[in-house]
Amino acid sequence: MITVSVGGNRAEMSEDFDVAVVGARCAGSPLAIKLARAGVRTVLIDKDEFPSDTPSTHFFQAEGLLSLQRLGVMERLKSTGAPIISEAHNRIGDLVVRSRWPTRPGDVGGAMCVRRPVLDTILVQRAREVGVEVRTGTRAMSLIGNGRVRGVRVRDSTGREVDVTARLVAGADGRGSLVARQAGARAYNITANERAGFWAYYDGVPITPPVTAYLHRWDEEFVIATPTDSGLFLVIILAPVHRLAAFRADSERTFEEHVARDGVVSDIVAGHPRTGRLFSVLGFTGYFRESAGPGWVLVGDAGHFKDPAPAQGISDALRQVDRLAPAIIAGLGRGEAALDAETEQWWRWRDEDAAEKYWFAQDLGRGGPVPLVFAEMTGRLHEQGRITELVDVFNHRRRPSTVLTPARLLGAAARLSLRGDALSRQQILRETRGMLSREMQRRRLNRQPVYAPMRQQETPAEIAVPA
Ligand SMILES: Cc1cc2nc3c(=O)[nH]c(=O)nc-3n(C[C@H](O)[C@H](O)[C@H](O)COP(=O)(O)OP(=O)(O)OC[C@H]3O[C@@H](n4cnc5c(N)ncnc54)[C@H](O)[C@@H]3O)c2cc1C
Repeated sequence: MITVSVGGNRAEMSEDFDVAVVGARCAGSPLAIKLARAGVRTVLIDKDEFPSDTPSTHFFQAEGLLSLQRLGVMERLKSTGAPIISEAHNRIGDLVVRSRWPTRPGDVGGAMCVRRPVLDTILVQRAREVGVEVRTGTRAMSLIGNGRVRGVRVRDSTGREVDVTARLVAGADGRGSLVARQAGARAYNITANERAGFWAYYDGVPITPPVTAYLHRWDEEFVIATPTDSGLFLVIILAPVHRLAAFRADSERTFEEHVARDGVVSDIVAGHPRTGRLFSVLGFTGYFRESAGPGWVLVGDAGHFKDPAPAQGISDALRQVDRLAPAIIAGLGRGEAALDAETEQWWRWRDEDAAEKYWFAQDLGRGGPVPLVFAEMTGRLHEQGRITELVDVFNHRRRPSTVLTPARLLGAAARLSLRGDALSRQQILRETRGMLSREMQRRRLNRQPVYAPMRQQETPAEIAVPA
C-alpha cells in the first residue's frame, strides 16, 4: 500500500510492497534483483539518478564475479571493455613477485575493475528488467512505524512525499545510512583510517595478456593500479594521513609525485594522458553496526565498513546479499517473528564472516612501513610457491588466519632474529609482540564488541581535496 501526500491531502494508491530497499548500488540492486526473481514485491529507492558516481574505487575479485554472473550481468560488464584480470604483480617490502590470480574451475576469472557509474547503472537496469519497482531520484526521508518499522517515507524529485509501506525495509544506503540512524543502530568496534585514498584514470594504456593488477606496498607507500572499463587505466594512491597537508597544498602535483615513486606503474602510464579529475576520499572510519531489528535490516556499507586497502566492499556486499536474500524469502512466508529471526541470524553470520577480514583490512591499511615480519612471511610463502594463498584471501576464499598463521608469524620472527643485529632483533620482538597482543584483543572484541561513544556514532564527513 502506498499513501501519497499531496499538499497536505493524502491519496491512496493500490500498491503494496513486501520489501523496500533503500540504496540501489552494489548492495541494494543485487538484493532487489534476487528478491524480485523469487516473486517478492520489491521497491528499490535511491536519491541518485543513474549513471552517477559514488566515492569509491571499484576492483572486485573471483567470488564477487561469480555473484555478478548469477545476477545475469556478466556479459554486460564484459561489454564495457573491462578485461578479466588474470595476474597479480605484488610488491611487499623488497619482495617483487608476479603470480597468477588464483581461480577455480567454473570461475568467471580472477578479478575485474568497472567504474561505479558503469557497474551500478548495469545493476539498476537489471533490477528493472526482473520486475523491481525502481524509484531513482527519490530520497528516503524517514522510517515509518511505531516499535516496528512498517515502511519508509520518501520524497521524489518533484518534492512529492510518499509513504511506502513494506513488511521489511532493507537499508542499503551506504556509510551515512539514514535507515541505520532512524532505526537507532549502534556502531561497534570502530577503527580509524591511517591512509587517505586518491585516484585517477589514464587513457590509452595498452593492455596485453596476461592482464595484470599491480598491488604495491613498500616503505610507507601503497599503490594499486589496474586496467578498468572503457580503455582506462586506474591508479590508486593510498597515502598515509600525515601527507595530507601536501595533498591539500597541491593535490595534482603530490599525486603525480606519488605515482613517480612506483617505477613499474609510472613506466606503464608514461606518455599516456590523465583523463578527468583527481578523486579522493580522506575519511573512512571502519565499523560494524547493529544490522537487524523489527522490520528492518542493513546490508553493505550501511551495516559494516572496512578499510578499503584490500578492495573488498563490493564483493562483501554481493556476498552478504547472497545470504540475506534467501533468509528474507524464507522469513516473509512465515510471519513477522520468523522474518525478524531470519534477519537477526543473518546479522550474526555477517559479523562472524566479516570479522577476520575486518582486522586484516585494518592491518593492510596501516600508515607505517610494512612490518618486517609480514614481509618475511610473504617472502617465505613465495619461496614455497604458495603466494597465491595470500591472493586467495582477497578472493574471499581463504581466511587470513589460514595463511598468516601464528606458526608462520613465529617462524618469520625467528628467521629474522637469527639474521639480524641487536637493533633489528628488538624491532622484530616489538612487532611480533604487537601482532600477538592485537590478535588477542581482536578476539575479545569479536566476542564482546565495544560500542562507540555517541559522538563517534556518525560517520565523519568526507573532505574532498580540490582537484
Ligand atoms: C576510497 C574508497 C575506495 C574503495 N575501493 C573499493 C574497491 O576498489 N573495491 C571494493 O570492492 N570496494 C571498495 N570500496 C568500498 C565500496 O565503495 C563499498 O563497500 C560499496 O560501495 C558498498 O556499496 P553499498 O551499496 O553498500 O553502498 P553505496 O555504494 O554507498 O551506495 C549507497 C546508495 O544509497 C543511496 N542513498 C543514501 N542515502 C539515501 C537516502 N536517504 N535515500 C535514498 N537513497 C540513499 C546513495 O545515493 C547510494 O546510491 C572503497 C571505498 C572507499 C571509501
